[in-house]
Amino acid sequence: MYSLAFSILFVSFIILTLLVRFWLASRHIRHVLAHRSAVPAEFAEKIPLAAHQKAADYTIARTRYGLLTLMVDTLVLVGFTLLGGLQWLSLQVFAVTGPGMWYQIALVGAYSVIAGAVSLPFDYYRQFGLEQRFGFNKMGKGLFFKDLIMWTGVGIALGLPLLWVVLTLMAKAGDLWWLYTWVVWTGFQLLMMVLAPNLILPLFNKFTPLADASLKARIEALIARVGFASRGLFVMDGSKRSAHGNAYFSGFGASKRIVFFDTLLARLQPQEIEAVLAHELGHFKLKHIVKRLAAIFALSLGFLALLGYLKNQPWFYDGLGVNPLALPGQSNDAMVLLLFMLVLPVFTFLFNPLTSIGSRKHEFEADAFAARHTDARDLVSALVKMYEDNASTLTPDPLHSAFYDSHPPASVRIRQLKLAAQA
Ligand SMILES: [Zn+2]
Repeated sequence: MYSLAFSILFVSFIILTLLVRFWLASRHIRHVLAHRSAVPAEFAEKIPLAAHQKAADYTIARTRYGLLTLMVDTLVLVGFTLLGGLQWLSLQVFAVTGPGMWYQIALVGAYSVIAGAVSLPFDYYRQFGLEQRFGFNKMGKGLFFKDLIMWTGVGIALGLPLLWVVLTLMAKAGDLWWLYTWVVWTGFQLLMMVLAPNLILPLFNKFTPLADASLKARIEALIARVGFASRGLFVMDGSKRSAHGNAYFSGFGASKRIVFFDTLLARLQPQEIEAVLAHELGHFKLKHIVKRLAAIFALSLGFLALLGYLKNQPWFYDGLGVNPLALPGQSNDAMVLLLFMLVLPVFTFLFNPLTSIGSRKHEFEADAFAARHTDARDLVSALVKMYEDNASTLTPDPLHSAFYDSHPPASVRIRQLKLAAQA
């Protein structure tokens, strides 16, 4: 009875999510098309019409492709759950491994292989079809497959021990296993923040200390002005894979470092780089990073508590096409982890605008911080170049933007920055 009700709820959320996503995408495409013929007045002097139209075409192509992958992902989700895919897979794996921990690990492994194999052609097309067509792909096919193998290796090296610990806690730690799992998970994420910049990312990219002496002096002056301690300024060879540019922070505490993509450095003037960095420093000084982490940890505690409850509810398995009694004597811990991970996004999608609101508030604050410590006009001209280079649309559908975008639309940000420059 509960199982059927849960199945119906699940299907309703899938349909609702699909409707909302298709509706937002079609609004977005119509809006971008309607503004394709002219550069918005406030950008008319800086962005050529051809670049504006490229951004429109790129946005539309990506939005359409997003709908295709959404359809495929939904079919895979329904196939694994309601159509009995996970149930079937668990029986196949069990026939090979027999009962015990290895069955559970193999089940998660088999699922990951299948899910990865389904998404591989789509990732391949995204890089060598879509990105290639708009001139963003800088990767050879060899590097694509080398990355795939290396990321799989990293995923196994990190994921396998973590999975083993979680499954052991689920089996042996009693009713509060989810709380201990939260402690482990939080510790794992903090550890990754230290390990990733020092051990993992260097496997994929080269990080060289910033060499340009005058730029370095300028940035160090800014860092001293705002009172920030960092372990260094690095340039990353992002151009090896993509023409998209970016700048970011990584690590925390004493291992903080600032990383610029070489693609970004090549395009921006020194004072623009300084302004972009001031924005990033603003996120740090205004405690956005700590707040975001705290929110993520609090949310994961809530979700794990929910998982702790669902683990013991037969309707959760039944309602998602899995018979929890199919393998007598074998625990369903790995199964409940997989089911939870698969269905959680269906139930949380509609809350997306809430995270977007929080994130956009932080972006405005970081922009205001940059305007206080550098010249706001430099950030404006850097933003204009970054929008042009990344072919990001200047005319998103407002509702689509409010739902998905972590950053406010360019025109809104720039209007605020111009006000700050006059003040
Ligand atoms: Zn930002």
